[in-house]
Amino acid sequence: MSPIAVDPTPPSSATPTSATTTSTTTSQPEPTHPTILRVLRSAKAFGSSAESLVSLPAGSVFAKITTATPAKKAYTSVQTGRDTHIELNSDLVFCNHSCDPSLNFDMHKMEVRVVDGRDLKQGDALTFFYPSSEWDMDQAFQCNCGAANCKGYIDGAQRMKTNQLAEYWLNPHIEELLKENAA
Ligand SMILES: [Zn+2]
Repeated sequence: MSPIAVDPTPPSSATPTSATTTSTTTSQPEPTHPTILRVLRSAKAFGSSAESLVSLPAGSVFAKITTATPAKKAYTSVQTGRDTHIELNSDLVFCNHSCDPSLNFDMHKMEVRVVDGRDLKQGDALTFFYPSSEWDMDQAFQCNCGAANCKGYIDGAQRMKTNQLAEYWLNPHIEELLKENAA
């Protein structure tokens, strides 16, 4: 058992000939979650989105957040505490807001889970409820998610009504800030 007897063959993923190219005009970054998430890119501002490649039961872990780095609040950042924000640095950033989301981003456990009330199906849009992590968003927007329970103007949890937030799982720092606000 000599340590020199290491197979020098590179992993098959390193051979560029295996890549299937349907578009030759743009070189896109490597997918970071190729087995679970597909990015649907759009030239429109904020038009890109993500869809699920897997079906998972309600409440199960979709992905661990492993590539986050501390960051200033920005439209791409996610809040992790009362004064802390991260950049995801992965395709998870393409999970858009929805008022009827498929995922919860748990920024304390650093994991993304399927929402508790509904199974995730392959092909579903991957979305989360931004005020579940964001207290006061960098860029507010008018939501067009189409959900029956759409909240309309989304600018973070700070200015939302308690009964509007009650239907969602919220990160601990949002729960804490809501309690302080109510006191
Ligand atoms: Zn909405």
